[in-house]
Amino acid sequence: MKVRIVGIVVIIFSCCAALFLSGCKKGEEKPVAGLQVVTTLFPLYDFARTIAGDKAQVTMLLPPGIEPHTFEPRPEDMIRISRAGLFVYTNKYMEPWVEKIITGIESKSLRIVNAGERVTYRAGGAKDEHDHKEGAEHDQHHDHKGMDPHIWLDFANAALMVDTILDGFIAADPVNSGVYHQNAETLKKRLIALDLHYRKELSSCSTKKLLHGGHYTFGYLARRYNLEYHALSGISSDSEPSAERMAALVREIRSSGAKYLFAEELLSPRLTETLAKEAGVGVLMLHGAHNLSRDDQSKNVTFFDLMERNLLQLEKGLQCRGK
Ligand SMILES: [Zn+2]
Repeated sequence: MKVRIVGIVVIIFSCCAALFLSGCKKGEEKPVAGLQVVTTLFPLYDFARTIAGDKAQVTMLLPPGIEPHTFEPRPEDMIRISRAGLFVYTNKYMEPWVEKIITGIESKSLRIVNAGERVTYRAGGAKDEHDHKEGAEHDQHHDHKGMDPHIWLDFANAALMVDTILDGFIAADPVNSGVYHQNAETLKKRLIALDLHYRKELSSCSTKKLLHGGHYTFGYLARRYNLEYHALSGISSDSEPSAERMAALVREIRSSGAKYLFAEELLSPRLTETLAKEAGVGVLMLHGAHNLSRDDQSKNVTFFDLMERNLLQLEKGLQCRGK
């Protein structure tokens, strides 16, 4: 794997060098003015484009509708990253491939931002046993695979991510730091308002059980609003649920008295529908915001739109305020 990626990097840089020496052939992308920012997942893209305003150009690496956990960059993605001034990713649990490519990119002007570097990580999975802080004291041999990468679904974490992305913008383009700073402040105020809205609406629900027929996405969100989270499968959306786990979830739904099972976006809802039918409950969609569908992208949907949509679904599914 590593050899393959290094090989791709070598080929790309050979091509870039050849283009550079030939003075950029006709038909190639023209250089664009201003800071160029490439992000991986949708929340980073949405935060970065808000911080950028009209001072920088932000693009998202993931094509619409693509499953993010199994995504690996294609050679053309590597070229996009190496040509950017700023590359923003979520964390090493979400995009483990970033660590592999960092050493291969030799662009002097590229800054790489780990948006989750200020966040306290938690283990994924139903038991959510231990807190985990990234740091030097940390045992190198500790298994990182269990850390939950979905940090953006706790809006206090999202605000920390905004701070870290802002630092990247300011370092890459100090001339426009005033604008970036102001846009980031507005964004953080909106995140605080969103958090308050969630806290208010989810404070009086008939059930605290968030039953999810998908992968372990909403651990941080559930914890923030004192919900008990039961997901069908692990922290990656390609983890296969066992028959035992499916039966356990159906038992949990039946014993909880819940009326709905939540399904996840971008995956076939068939399994969730089958389980919901067996448990005698309805299905509601909850969006993890990893990526957008083509339809949502064409409607220019924002992170806040998705989260308000989720809140309505949660209020219905958890029967809050008599809903
Ligand atoms: Zn996920």
